[in-house]
Amino acid sequence: MKSAAFAYHRVRSAEEARDCLARYGGEAKVLAGGQSLVPMLHMRLVRPAALVDINRAEGLDRVEFPPEEDVVVIGAAVRHADVLRHAALGRRLPILREALALVGHPAIRNRGTPVGSVCHADPAAEMPAVLALLGGEVEALGAEGRYRIPADAFFLTYFTTALPPEDVAVAVRLPLPSPHTGQAFAEVARREGDFALVGAGASVRLDEDGRVAEARLVFCGVGDTPVRAYEVEAELAGVRPSAGTWEEAGAAAADRLQPEGDVHASAAYRREVAARLAARVLAAAFRRAREGPDAAEVAGPNAADGGASPAGRNDAPDHRGGLPE
Ligand SMILES: Cc1cc2nc3c(=O)[nH]c(=O)nc-3n(C[C@H](O)[C@H](O)[C@H](O)COP(=O)(O)OP(=O)(O)OC[C@H]3O[C@@H](n4cnc5c(N)ncnc54)[C@H](O)[C@@H]3O)c2cc1C
Repeated sequence: MKSAAFAYHRVRSAEEARDCLARYGGEAKVLAGGQSLVPMLHMRLVRPAALVDINRAEGLDRVEFPPEEDVVVIGAAVRHADVLRHAALGRRLPILREALALVGHPAIRNRGTPVGSVCHADPAAEMPAVLALLGGEVEALGAEGRYRIPADAFFLTYFTTALPPEDVAVAVRLPLPSPHTGQAFAEVARREGDFALVGAGASVRLDEDGRVAEARLVFCGVGDTPVRAYEVEAELAGVRPSAGTWEEAGAAAADRLQPEGDVHASAAYRREVAARLAARVLAAAFRRAREGPDAAEVAGPNAADGGASPAGRNDAPDHRGGLPE
């Protein structure tokens, strides 16, 4: 199918994008990488009056580390592939590389953008989960100027965010990890390049005694938005990890999930995979916090469970998320 007719505007600045969106009163859509929007246009799932192409807008193609702030700011025209080959980002926020390497195929990553992924708000996508895990913010431009929306207020439900349709997201702001912090991301998908059936990300910061000063855990693919495991995070604070800590935490987090079943996986399967993945990413984040970022790959598929397959399905070795044997 082909898309319905729309006007097309290529803008030169974020301000021009915002003015253009406002002129259409919310009936226009931003075109970033087009990797989600164009298929939706062609399937006529969306019928905007106009597209506002931000790809040549001044200053949106930058990755910046603002001085005196422990954040990285990724502009709205920066591609997934730009992030993957950005050396300083790979060094300072390696979880981003680990997660974005799982987004589709190279052709998708060459065009698609992390900010576009966040604005698209697919609950199975990696980038929204990373934003939620790190407690990042979306920086937007509205009628009153620039403002920020924290991750936990940004994702409302499936493909729906708090960003008003007249406003443009100019960047995402992601906190950089403090010392003694390790992070990890992994997922299970049916085939390489597919969206995750379930994904999980973790961040663990240790105190000088080797206890958990702060743990964070997020899932994708198990709800209508990225799902933070706030209760388990609170239960892990102050704990000195021992054998079984991460498996118990993963199981407790998965117990509280309410995933839906679909043609790809049952709800029970998703919950089981979530438990295993959570245990693995927490354990890997812990090892990295203790030994440094190069310490550990996320463990192989059966490392946490003595060899049992997740739930009698998807028994083939996983292709993604550092999971292959
Ligand atoms: C075959 C295939 C496989 C894929 N696999 C994965 C995968 O495994 N994981 C994954 O996460 N993604 C996957 N994707 C999607 C890909 O990551 C997209 O690039 C991403 O979801 C959207 O980014 P985009 O820059 O292409 O945005 P677009 O498609 O241009 O836009 C998506 C939506 O966000 C809005 N938007 C974009 N930028 C802004 C902005 N700056 N301000 C306001 N609104 C904005 C648009 O108006 C639109 O509604 C896949 C896509 C394809 C086609």
